[in-house]
Amino acid sequence: MRDHRMWIGGQWVPSESGRMMTTKNPSTGEDHAGVPKASAADIDAAVRAAREAFPVWSGMTQAERNKVLYEIAAKIREEADAMARDECAEHGTPYNDAYGVCMGAAAKFEWSANAAYRLMGEEIPVPGDTLTYLKNEPVGVIGFITPWNLPTIMTAVKLAPALAVGNTCVLKPPSINSAIGLKFAHVLSQVPSLPKGVVNIVTGSGSEAGAALASHPEVDLIGFTGSSETGKEILALAAPTVKKCVMELGGNNPVLIFPDADIDASLKVLAWRQFNNSGQHCSGPGRYYVHESVYDEFAAKFKAYAESLKVGDTTSGDKSIQMGPLVSAEHKAKVLGYISGAVAEGATVLTGGDAGTQYGSGFFVKPTVLTGCTHDMTCAREEIFGPVAVLIRYTDSDDLVTMANDSRFGLCAHIWTRDISKGMKLISTLHVGAVFINCQMLTDEQPWGTSVKESGIGKEGGIFGMREFVDKKLVCVKYGE
Ligand code: NAP
Repeated sequence: MRDHRMWIGGQWVPSESGRMMTTKNPSTGEDHAGVPKASAADIDAAVRAAREAFPVWSGMTQAERNKVLYEIAAKIREEADAMARDECAEHGTPYNDAYGVCMGAAAKFEWSANAAYRLMGEEIPVPGDTLTYLKNEPVGVIGFITPWNLPTIMTAVKLAPALAVGNTCVLKPPSINSAIGLKFAHVLSQVPSLPKGVVNIVTGSGSEAGAALASHPEVDLIGFTGSSETGKEILALAAPTVKKCVMELGGNNPVLIFPDADIDASLKVLAWRQFNNSGQHCSGPGRYYVHESVYDEFAAKFKAYAESLKVGDTTSGDKSIQMGPLVSAEHKAKVLGYISGAVAEGATVLTGGDAGTQYGSGFFVKPTVLTGCTHDMTCAREEIFGPVAVLIRYTDSDDLVTMANDSRFGLCAHIWTRDISKGMKLISTLHVGAVFINCQMLTDEQPWGTSVKESGIGKEGGIFGMREFVDKKLVCVKYGE
């Protein structure tokens, strides 16, 4: 087990108190790494470092900052194999997925550098000899708090656009896989053109380090991704200093499978998404409403897909593994609890449904398909966040839109039909932030996120996401008599 340090002001430092936390290898349940457990004092040091670095970084030309971002991207590509191995070891990501994620992380920095050129000011026409315009300015010091489900890419998704437009950052990674955050810091530390203190990565618990960051008076914006429950706590912590908050929160995304859906095409997307990253995707399918005429076919093909997957220890060196464990023993217990709860409420396990004896002490749950579920069951109402497909049979007499909208979440919805006109008409009836019809694509250009119900506030990614990280200052100049 390797002990790590945090990265504050361009230095590798222990926590001020000397306290440490231990992370696990989810494939084996063994200890993986020791990471510092930061207190409010460490967060304060990081925020001060970011504040000091702000004039230098925000004062650079876009071209100068972009050069640094391109160097970061190049360094990530160079280190991708080592970074991917860390994802395998501390998150349980299969190697090929983890390597792809690292390439995606590098691309985020390149894309953000290019996109920042497109953030232009705006002139407002006013009468008289007066020039009025909106000037883009970086918001200042941003505090990022990230979830465990996508550790490497989430770090890039947060940092790249914020840095591109001139902000400095303090990022607190999730406790469960903090060493992946520190690996990212290690890569950044090898980019000498990145001024000290522009990025600070501080590990610690959410209740202590995270709360200290969310409430710090010198932090101008909080960028958070995580559960809706934690999101509400962070909003409360940020309120006394009226911080801007960009919140990417939970979901329980409805999937509408119409009788005319291309079932094979839908499963290629949905079943893949259901089990990729062991189902720990916010945008993934949450509950499937499948028309009775295609229900049995859909269920049988889903089962076949689930059973075809190679599940295993992502640290074994076997690159053909397609699905690893869940991230923690706690999360495994939670997901198994949803499965047994569903059975108690009347659902049937079509395949999977347990931890599998072959996986030893790892945090595995087998790819699972539940049939006979109903809209009112707990498994259909809450975010399971695991490799569990919840299939609900509907008939022509059911009000599909009402069922889809009947949730405290509003992240996204999936529609599968060959009748595009029907799909398009449904878009405005669904109270969600994103609708995917016959596909699920998430590219660098597309903004993600929603301000619908308890699923978040604001956007992340694309030009719209980048705009969250600039303030528009009104400038009014009288140049005539
Ligand atoms: P979480 O428990 O809410 O934790 C997220 C982060 O918040 C962690 O770094 C956590 O630290 C920290 N934290 C916890 N309590 C805090 C507090 N009082 N003050 C400040 N920070 C605090 O979420 P998770 O379980 O890691 O992630 C899964 C959730 O994220 C799911 O609900 C999923 O839908 C959501 N998610 C949403 C999106 C999206 O784009 N909408 C994307 C990915 C994930 P510790 O690790 O120390 O607890």
